[in-house]
Amino acid sequence: MIDLQKLTEEVCAGKALTYDEGVELTQHLDKEALYEAADTIRTHFCGNNMDLCSITNAKSGRCSQNCKWCSQSAHHTTNIEEYDLIDKERAVNEALESAKAGVHRHSLVTSGKSVSNKTLHSLLEIYKEIREKSSINLCASMGLVTKEQLQKLKNAGISHYHCNLETAPSYFPNVCTTHTIQDKIDVILTAQSLDMRVCSGGIIGMGETMEQRVELACTLRDLHIMSIPINILTPIEGTPLYNAHTLSEEEILTTIAVFRFINPKANLRFAGGRLQIKKFQHKALHAGINSALTGNYLTTVGSNTAQDIKDFTASGFTIAR
Ligand code: SF4
Repeated sequence: MIDLQKLTEEVCAGKALTYDEGVELTQHLDKEALYEAADTIRTHFCGNNMDLCSITNAKSGRCSQNCKWCSQSAHHTTNIEEYDLIDKERAVNEALESAKAGVHRHSLVTSGKSVSNKTLHSLLEIYKEIREKSSINLCASMGLVTKEQLQKLKNAGISHYHCNLETAPSYFPNVCTTHTIQDKIDVILTAQSLDMRVCSGGIIGMGETMEQRVELACTLRDLHIMSIPINILTPIEGTPLYNAHTLSEEEILTTIAVFRFINPKANLRFAGGRLQIKKFQHKALHAGINSALTGNYLTTVGSNTAQDIKDFTASGFTIAR
C-alpha cells in the first residue's frame, strides 16, 4: 500500500504524481487518512482563502451539440427556459449582485458549440457596462471560440476563459460525438497563448471509471489549469444520463482528494451538483476543495451566496475581498 504520509510530504515538496500513483491512491483503504492528507496539501499550497465565482446563463438552450448530460442540447427534450440572448439589464444586475455579495469573478456563459460575432458583440456590451459599474473580475464561457474572438474578449478586460474538458479523453466520445475533446484542448491552448487564465474541469458521475477521473485530473494538470471545477452530475429528465448511477459520498470525496494530490496548487472548485453533497460539504471542504461556483448554475438551482460564505467561514475558510 502507498505510504500516504511520505507521498503527501513529497507532493508538498513539489513531486508530480504519476497516473499510476493516482490510481493507487483511489484504492487507498483508509479514506479518512486520504482526505486528511489532501487537506494538508491544500493548506500547504493554497492556505485558507476561498475563491468565489458566479455565472449568468446569457444564452440558453437550442444547442446543436449532443452532450449527453446537458439540458440545453436540442437533441434532448427537457423543460428549460430557452432564449437567444439575455436582457442586458438582467445580466448586468446579476453581475453587480455577485460583486456586492463578495464574489471575486463573474462569467457570462452561452449555450452552443461556439458564439457568433454578432452575439459576441452584444455580450461585449454587457461586459462593458459591468466594468463601468464594478471592479469584479470577468470570465467568459462561450464554447469553441476562435483566436480572434478570444482576443476581443481579452481586449475588453476579460481575464479568464472557461472551457471544461468535461471528462477523461478516453471517455469523452461516450458522452458527446458532435465535437471532440481535442477541440476543447485547442481552445484552452489558444486562450493560454493570449495570456488568458483558463478555468477547466469536468463532471463526475457520467458513467466514467475512477481511473478515468484520474486521467482527467492528469490531463488538466498537464494543461497547467489552475482553476478546476468539479461538477457532480445532476441527472436532468429528458437527457440520456437521467438514470445515471448516483455516486456515493466515498466516491465523490475520493475523487476530490485525488484531484488535489494531482493538482496541488490549483483552485479545486465546487460547482454543479453541490446540493447533492450539502450534508457532507464540510468534509469535502477538508478533502481538497478551496473554491466555489456560488449562486445558481446554468439550468439548475445552486446556492445562496450569503449562506455559502457563512458555511465556508464556519468550515475555517476566509473570503478575501
Ligand atoms: S454542454 Fe454546451 S455544447 Fe454541449 S449541448 Fe450543452 S450547451 Fe451545447
